[in-house]
This record gives sequence, C-alpha cells and structure tokens, in this order.
Amino acid sequence: MDAKIGVLAVQGNVSEHIDAFLLALERMGHGPSSEVFEVRNPADLADCNALALPGGESTTISRLIDKNGLFEPLRSFRGGIFATCAGMVLMATRVDDPRIHPLGLIDMAVDRNAFGRQRESFEADIQMDGLNGGPFHAVFIRAPVATTAGNAVHVLARASQGIVALEQGDHMALSFHPELGNDTRLHERFLNQLGIAAIKK
Ligand code: GLN
Repeated sequence: MDAKIGVLAVQGNVSEHIDAFLLALERMGHGPSSEVFEVRNPADLADCNALALPGGESTTISRLIDKNGLFEPLRSFRGGIFATCAGMVLMATRVDDPRIHPLGLIDMAVDRNAFGRQRESFEADIQMDGLNGGPFHAVFIRAPVATTAGNAVHVLARASQGIVALEQGDHMALSFHPELGNDTRLHERFLNQLGIAAIKK
C-alpha cells in the first residue's frame, strides 16, 4: 500500500516530521507514489492514511485544531496517528490541564511537562519493547508522560516519571522526538503496523 502521510501543520515542528517520514519511506523502498504533506484542514486530512501530530505547544495546537474545524475529523480519522510530545498530550483521554481539549484516541492520562523545569530537555538511550536493533536514542524536550494507560494500550517504554512510549491499535504516541536524528525505526514500525510495508527490490 502506498503511504499518504499527513503532518498536522497548525503549529510545532512540522518540517522535521516531513523529512523523517520521507527518509523512512526511502529506506523502505517507496517511490514517489508514497507522499508526505502538510495537513491544515479537514479536506487535507481526507487524503491521508497516516497522520503525524507533531510536538510544539499543546495548548496552542489544541486551540488551532478547534478553530480549524479539525476536532471531529481527527476523532473519526480512520488511519493511524503518530503522535510525539505535544501530539501525545492531544491523543489522551485525560490531561492535567483544562486548556487542552484532548482527542481521546488513546486510553491514557497524561501529565504535561512531567519532567519539571529542572530537566527541560535531555537525551537518553531507552530500551523499547519489540524494537530490534538496540536502544533508541531519545531527545526529550519539556516532555509529557502517561501516568495511567488502559488495557488496550501496549506500553513500549517507561521512565521513572511514567510511560514515554506506547501504542493503541494503529496509533503510536511518544513523549520524545524521534523526528530529530536519523533513526527511523519507530516511523517504520508505525507504517508497517498500518499495513504500509517495505517494498522489496
Ligand atoms: N510540554 C509541551 C506541551 O505540553 C510539549 C513540548 C514539546 O512538544 N516539545 O505543550
């Protein structure tokens, strides 16, 4: 299946996600019929079979999702969602901040800025369940964590503050930034699980 990957482009690190998915698709042997493009409104979303929700400022992204009429279309989106950092906050069923109107697509409670001001940003090699090729070098920037997760959630990695990587159905949420750096194993895993396989040459 060709990939039609949208990156929600209302605020946050959009171009990094586009570049990371393009690199993942290239490594998977996909040609130009697989695409990565920006999503700003419901019509753009209708063309996607996968969507990235980038990091940025979750209160701002949440407000712009509502303003652009994207809340219901995102809730009923039939493809997989790859959500990082602020994007992970938006996927939750519960968030510790009333300014966020979460999509409720992953059964989890999320704490924003769970690592506190002292550790705004750090890097760590984390062990991830089911990911071959060794630990993942993760960049955390004012990162959230999931404090609880429902039975349908597959936890991929934890830190002492809480869950930092998980999956539910076709969705993946990560509290760090896999789009920084050129390790595309998580992008490739996400696409594979959606049925977007590598093309054998
Ligand atoms: N803590 C930020 C928020 O909740 C997310 C930070 C990020 O995406 N790098 O908006």
